[in-house]
Amino acid sequence: MKKVILVAGGAGFIGSHLCERLSNDARNEIHCIDNLVTGHADNVPNSPNVQIHRLDVNTLKSNADLVDVKFDQVYNLACPASPVHYQRDPVFTWKTNVLGALNLLEIAERDGARFLQASTSEVYGEPLEHPQKETLWLHVNPVGVRSCYDVGKAAAETIVTDYGKQRGVNVRIVRIFNCYGPRMSLDDGRAVSNFVFQALRDEDITIYGDGSQTRSFCYVADLVDGLIKAMNSDLLRGPCNLGNPAESSVRDLATRITTVSGSKSKIIFKPLPRDDPTRRQPDIAMARELLHWEPKTILDAGLLATIADFRARLPKFADKTQGNDKVIEE
Ligand code: UDP
Repeated sequence: MKKVILVAGGAGFIGSHLCERLSNDARNEIHCIDNLVTGHADNVPNSPNVQIHRLDVNTLKSNADLVDVKFDQVYNLACPASPVHYQRDPVFTWKTNVLGALNLLEIAERDGARFLQASTSEVYGEPLEHPQKETLWLHVNPVGVRSCYDVGKAAAETIVTDYGKQRGVNVRIVRIFNCYGPRMSLDDGRAVSNFVFQALRDEDITIYGDGSQTRSFCYVADLVDGLIKAMNSDLLRGPCNLGNPAESSVRDLATRITTVSGSKSKIIFKPLPRDDPTRRQPDIAMARELLHWEPKTILDAGLLATIADFRARLPKFADKTQGNDKVIEE
């Protein structure tokens, strides 16, 4: 059956992989919207069933924008997600999270579309339980450097949930745990992208703190499977974790990346950023049971693919030629 699908943030890292996967089914008509602040039009697959619209979810109007299209599904992945990007303009990040979700919910309501909100493990903050289950309440600093993102995403969860309960929009929320893979921005300051970039140039690998903090890294292809399953499921009733339960310390990640890439880099230590969570590991029992989903890609295999992609892009990054010329200006 033909589906008309809106992917907000479709020119970003995860959004573009989602557009690509959805575009493999010729019956899907995909509309990618992106303000191209952190995303790149070049990320979006050049496919006859994908259109890119340069629109900002903050200012999107359900009675004026995209009115000629009736959507069956709306995915909201629109927000800068790496600390360096989302902390650059915290007010804009907060608005993107909350007003963006609201504006997209209005489009879903207008069209009777299913709605999927990409939330984050960041809503657990400094977690009081380990691993993190969906029932855990947030434990975040409301006035810290990460608040525009973690509190913003939590506020978005509230408005999404209430649009479901009060206004009958068919909503679901997924909480994404540290996703990585090909097409991550080389300069987004995240652990995987920084370490791979540094390793490929034999530069020092910068560990913040002593590297004992943990994250659980999920390969992007696995995550995209989970997003599509969540969108098509009628069983999800509340937020659902999507991540790889294999937990790794940041120091272990750095060592693996130098080994897998054959780098001569050495590890150096820098101060830990404020409010940096010490542990992060998803409990994915809900996704296993309701979506029959679990990640398949082990870290070394995912890192190999990521390193190959970064290696291919390094020369391009040097002259910053990523263009935005496939965009429909609206
Ligand atoms: N990190 C690091 N060196 C870097 C970049 C990040 O040690 O060059 C650490 C960061 O302080 C955090 C972990 O790696 O403890 C994961 O950081 P990332 O930004 O990838 O994800 P998030 O903190 O949002 O989970």
